[in-house]
Parts: sequence; structure tokens; C-alpha cells
Amino acid sequence: MENPNPDGSVSRRVSLRKRVNMRSYNEGMLDDELFDKLDTSLKKKKGPKYDVNKETDTEAMIAFSLGFPIDALLEHEIRSGVVKELSGKEQNDYIVIRNHILALWRDNVRIWLTKGQIRETVTSEFEHLLNTAYDYLLYNGHINFGVSPLFISQFPEAKEETVIVIGAGLAGLAAARQLLSFGYKVMVLEGRNRPGGRVYTQKMGKEGKFAAVDLGGSVITGIHANPLAVLARQLSAPLHKVRVDCPLYKPNGEPVDKELDTNVEFAFNRLLDKVMELRKIMGGFASDTSLGSVLETLKALYAVAQSTDEKQLLNWHLANLEYANAGCLSNLSAAHWDQDDPYEMGGDHCFLAGGNWRLIKAMCEGVPIFYGKTANTIRYGNEGVEVIVGDQVFQADYALCTVPLGVLKKKAINFEPELPARKLESIEKMGFGLLNKVAMVFPHVFWGEESDTFGCLNENSQDRGEFFLFYSYHTVSGGSTLIALVAGEAAQNFETTDPSILLHRVLTTLKGIFNAKGITVPDPIQSICTRWGSDPLSYGSYSHVSVHSSGKDYDILAENVGNRLFFAGEATSRQFPATMHGAFLSGLREASHIYQLTHNQLVNPKKSMAKNGGAFNRTLVNLFKKPDLESGKYAFIYDSSSEDLHSKAIMQMTFGCTEEIYREILNCYPNPTEFPMQLYTIMSREQVQQMQQISGEDKKMWSFLTKNLGLKFMGMNTLLNAGNSVITSIAASRKGKRNRKLTPQLHNPNKSP
Ligand SMILES: Cc1cc2nc3c(=O)[nH]c(=O)nc-3n(C[C@H](O)[C@H](O)[C@H](O)COP(=O)(O)OP(=O)(O)OC[C@H]3O[C@@H](n4cnc5c(N)ncnc54)[C@H](O)[C@@H]3O)c2cc1C
Repeated sequence: MENPNPDGSVSRRVSLRKRVNMRSYNEGMLDDELFDKLDTSLKKKKGPKYDVNKETDTEAMIAFSLGFPIDALLEHEIRSGVVKELSGKEQNDYIVIRNHILALWRDNVRIWLTKGQIRETVTSEFEHLLNTAYDYLLYNGHINFGVSPLFISQFPEAKEETVIVIGAGLAGLAAARQLLSFGYKVMVLEGRNRPGGRVYTQKMGKEGKFAAVDLGGSVITGIHANPLAVLARQLSAPLHKVRVDCPLYKPNGEPVDKELDTNVEFAFNRLLDKVMELRKIMGGFASDTSLGSVLETLKALYAVAQSTDEKQLLNWHLANLEYANAGCLSNLSAAHWDQDDPYEMGGDHCFLAGGNWRLIKAMCEGVPIFYGKTANTIRYGNEGVEVIVGDQVFQADYALCTVPLGVLKKKAINFEPELPARKLESIEKMGFGLLNKVAMVFPHVFWGEESDTFGCLNENSQDRGEFFLFYSYHTVSGGSTLIALVAGEAAQNFETTDPSILLHRVLTTLKGIFNAKGITVPDPIQSICTRWGSDPLSYGSYSHVSVHSSGKDYDILAENVGNRLFFAGEATSRQFPATMHGAFLSGLREASHIYQLTHNQLVNPKKSMAKNGGAFNRTLVNLFKKPDLESGKYAFIYDSSSEDLHSKAIMQMTFGCTEEIYREILNCYPNPTEFPMQLYTIMSREQVQQMQQISGEDKKMWSFLTKNLGLKFMGMNTLLNAGNSVITSIAASRKGKRNRKLTPQLHNPNKSP
């Protein structure tokens, strides 16, 4: 193998030991690389606007940093039909306006950008492109997303469509907020008694001196274009750049020689380069081979890492690779393990001061979440969906399932009908691995302030992932906190080992390093060992591309079933799997899918009627928007042109939306349909009149309705079946009235009356 570059710029992937230039985080600043790319691309462009307009260039650069091509449309924009003709003037103008809107919002992500504000800087000649670009960016989650407190007031009044989101992790919460902002009625069912899922910040330490420690997702990896950085800005939450310096220590506690460290790191990166070359030669065979076996072969072939020190160092890098992928190298696909590399977010890796719960907490604001609701069964069909939790049934038009891949692999949820074979196959093939942590709060910081991470080599290859990397959290957690990482095979063994033994081992490692420096390692005030693999609401840490699998499996997992059942979560993100931002973006993506689907149905109601019962459901909701009679929580619709007391009416009863009341109702009525919950009954006009004679509190009224009048109450879906003909005839009577009203306007004004 060749010698390292003199500048030591050798790392090509992997977590935090990248040799990136030292600089502090500033969202306004973009990489030089970005400027270079932009420059070449813009030079190719023709037309006065691009040559002279500096502002347009800057805006193009911002759009580029957000993943939009400079002089072309995204494939998704093309599919969405944002312009009539590709590659012409209209497309160029659209791109300029799209970039302008993106730049305007990025300039101040705390505001809800309106079309009115954009009009101040775009001439009316481009009104249609402004509308198209704005709607595209809004409904695809590129602007006006996040947790700014100002946003909730912009949410429109809820429409009739209902969505149940299963899981209150980043994906579920992002989707729920976005759907609420599009005007859907949303309910989130979460199995745990807390939100956040694999983002979990634990309060540790002593009363009055608590530290906030992330036991799950912690590092915001790559700050440019990262939506979580937008959230941090909206909350004015400081980000702390994770410094790249990471000193390594031998198993006996001695520091690793710097030159040896650089040489082995270089050799490791060359090995990965060789894997890329080899897999090209292997073609399809690489898909059936593990990264681990290819690396072993190449290691032997090039006689890499011969001495004990070199072997241990190389093993440290392999452990780091297993950490980045949450999987043993023997399980990773040699062909596709790094398929997401091209999409890696640029910029520094950062911690959020105070822990990531701050993002979660803000995302929960205004979202109706029901805790302790583990979904056992999800039923889906043309009429809608039902999510079953124990003996409770929740119904809606759509369901969005965001549970971890580990939960799907365990078949912990029963899907009725069964999921399509190709999805089941992908679930089976995809990898879901393990990363565990030991979080420790000490009485004081004894490990120094110079770096945010340090690593420790292990003697044996099978233990290489045990406490191989330590994160210092004291700058951001509010306490003297260290976290030790356990990856690869060691993470599996960790799950079944007594925590007191694990703590003893980690302290021995720390003492080995620091006692040799004359520093005493104190006993921790508190420690926690995670067990993500045994967690029944996760069954692992995050996904990876395993042998026989590929990036395509992420796309298949993301596919919806029957336009009713949708999927989000990190394992549905081909571009950003295994990350917090990938989970978040997948939630925005599915909210957009649901919006596009229902929006298209509204545009083309006939087609959608044939496909599903959603339009019929909308008819009912529209009828109740203008009831024929209303009194408090009771609303009635009937054919008001008829005086017949035997003619049918439908009554809607709306319950309040606090969780407490809702729980109470669930006890006596376990089949809710809406939130706020609405129940229906079919009654005669005579019964409507009798009801008007009764007054009193809810209990008395409920007893009169059910006992005296013998009425049966039902949810919307049951009503849509049972009351089909009544709804149709009431709708027809209204239409008749409207048509009668319109008739005079249809007279030809030129004709005399
Ligand atoms: C130890 C660890 C370290 C990590 N480090 C990083 C990092 O540094 N940087 C980074 O970007 N990412 C990191 N990640 C990954 C990141 O945390 C995840 O990719 C992301 O949080 C996943 O979000 P999600 O919404 O897809 O899933 P989840 O957060 O798992 O949300 C799914 C939710 O569904 C719930 N649920 C499950 N089953 C059911 C059911 N049957 N009914 C109802 N609810 C159910 C769960 O309780 C959970 O709340 C780490 C993960 C772990 C475990």
C-alpha cells in the first residue's frame, strides 16, 4: 500500500474522525467547494440575468446547498409538472423564483413566508410561477417547516381527512406537524410513555445539578442543509461543533504514536478504496458478499497491519465503521454499504446544547399524541384504516406507520391484509443493527477540555467495539458527562451482560488511560447502560445495507400500500438512513405524499370516488359544515324542503378534545372515529323535534337519546355504510335547492324577461 499524503487528509467516511478543516459553525457560510461548483455551473449559463445579477447567483448557491440543482429541475419537480415546457425560458424563470423563495425563507426560518411577502420582490408578470414554486416548496416541506412558535397560528382549519400516525419519533412528529399545517386532522399513537423514540435525552446526576444526556441519537451529522439545524435556529438553541481531534489510547492506556496513527488510518482508507475497485470487478457478486470478508481478503493480500499495535489500530477503525453502520462488517453488503455517501450532509457535526429533547419537545407542541398505545394490528382497505390497540379501535382515512425496522422485522404489528410480498422481502433483507452506550455522570471533569472525543483500542478483534470511543458531553449537557460507545459484536454481548460488570469494565479502561497520567478517576454519580436491542419498541439501533440488500430496499419500505397505509422512519430514507435528519425528512416526505394524494382526489373527484370511499366521506363532512339545525354539541342534517315527520335526519354529536374526556369516552365507546370525537345517529324528524323539548346536562341527554328514543350511535365509517341512502338523499335535496337558486342567473341576459 502507498504512503499517506503529507497533509494527512485521508479519512473518507465515518463518523467523527474526519479530518475536516477546523472552523466554527455559521449557517451563512458555505464551503469553498460549493462556490467552485457553482461558479463553473453558472458560467455555462446563458442570459443576462445570470451574468449580472449577483443576488440571483447567491440565491442559486443557497438552493444548491439545499440539494437543488443550479440550472436544472429536480426530477421530482419535473414529475410534479412545475413547468409546461422543459429547458425553455419558463424553466429558467421558475428556477430563479424557486431559488429566491428558498433564500427568502432561509434568511429567516422563524417566519411563515407568505406569497404576499414574495410578491414584494417578484413582478406580477411571474405570478403563476410564483404560485407554482411556492406551492411546490410548501407542500414538499422545503419552506415553512419546523417548530417556530409563530407557525401554529398559520395552520388552517382542519379539513375532513384524518390521519393516524403510529410512532412519536422524529419521523412521526415531523409528519404530524406537517399534516396539521396542511389542514388534516391528526392523531399520533405512541407505544411508549414519552415522545422521541430513538431520540431520548435522560436527565442524570443530582438534584440541582442535572445533566441532559442523549442515550439515543445525539450528533447532528453535517449542518449544511440539515433540517434539524433549521429547528435549532427556530428555537435559538446553540449548536456545539464536535471538534475533530480524537486522541487514541492503547489497551494499556498509553497514547498511540501519532505517526503510526496516521499511517494506519491512511492504510484503512486505502483498503476501502480497494473495496470500491474490487466490487466494480466483481459486478453482481459483490451484492452477495460481505464488506467484512472483502476487507479481510484485501488486508491479507496487501499485508496491512502486521504488528500488534497496527492490528489493534486497524481494528479501532473497523469498529468505527461498525459504529457508523450499526452493524457487524460481516453483515454489511460489500456492494452497497455506502450507497448513501453521495448525499452526506456537508458541514460540521454538532451537538445541541441541552440535548435533542429540546427539538422533540418543541415538535410535540400542538400535536395530539396518545401515549402507552402500542399498535397490535393495522387494517387498511378502500374505506380507510383501523389501528387496533388492545381492545380499542382507532379509525381514520390514512395511517402512517413510523415504527422502527426492528419492530417490523419482529412482526410485532399484524397488518391486515398482509403487506405486499416485495415489502416483506425488503424488511427481511435489510439490516438493523446495534449501538449501545454507557452514560456516566462524574463529580468533575477529569478527562480534560482539549477534545470532545477520545478513543481506546482493544486487544482482541471480537471486542474491538467495546468502549472504543468516548464522547465528552460536559460542554453541552450541563454536567460532567462522558459517554462510552459499544459497537459491532461487542454491542450484542453488551445486551446480556450485567450492568455492574459493564460499569466495572468501562472504569477499568478509563483508569488505564488516566491513572497513567497521574489523574484519579472518581466513581460516577450515576451511570446508565442502554439496551436498544432488547427494547420491544425498537429491537435495535438503526438500519444498514446488509448482504443481499441494496438502497432500493429503502425505497420499497417507503412505498405506500393501496394509497391508505404509508411508511416513514429512518429505514425508509434511501439518501439519509440511520440518522435523525433522515427520519425527520421522511416524515415531511410522507406528509407531502398524503397531501398530493388527497389533493389530486379533490381535483378529480370522479376518479377518486371509483377508487375509494373518501369522497362520500367528504360529502357527509360538507353537509355538516352547514347543518340544518344546530344546538351546542348537536348538529342535524335533513331535507329541510320536506315537512314529513317520518323523513330521516342524521345527528352529529361532538365531544371535546382534551385527552381526559377522550379517555372517559373510550371507556364506554371503544370505537372512535375522529378527534375531536364525533358520533352519529340516524333518527326521524319527529325525534329531532322531541329532542328539542329536552334540556339538561350531558348525562340526562345521553340517557334520553339512548333509552327513551332507543337511538344507536356509531362512528363515521359505520354511518357511511348504514346511512348511505339517507346521506345521498339529503345531499341531493341540497343540490336541488342550490340549482333552483342558480337558475335565474343562467338566463341569457340579452333576452328580455
Ligand atoms: C444509540 C443510538 C445512537 C444514535 N446516534 C445518532 C447520531 O448521533 N446521529 C444521528 O443522526 N442519528 C443517530 N441515531 C439514529 C437516530 O436516532 C434515528 O435514526 C432516529 O431517531 C429514528 O427516528 P424514527 O422516527 O425513524 O424512529 P423512532 O425514533 O424509533 O420512532 C418510532 C416510534 O414508534 C414507536 N413504536 C414502535 N412500535 C410501536 C407500536 N407498535 N405502536 C405504537 N408506537 C410504536 C416507538 O416507541 C418510537 O417512539 C442513533 C440511534 C441510536 C439508537
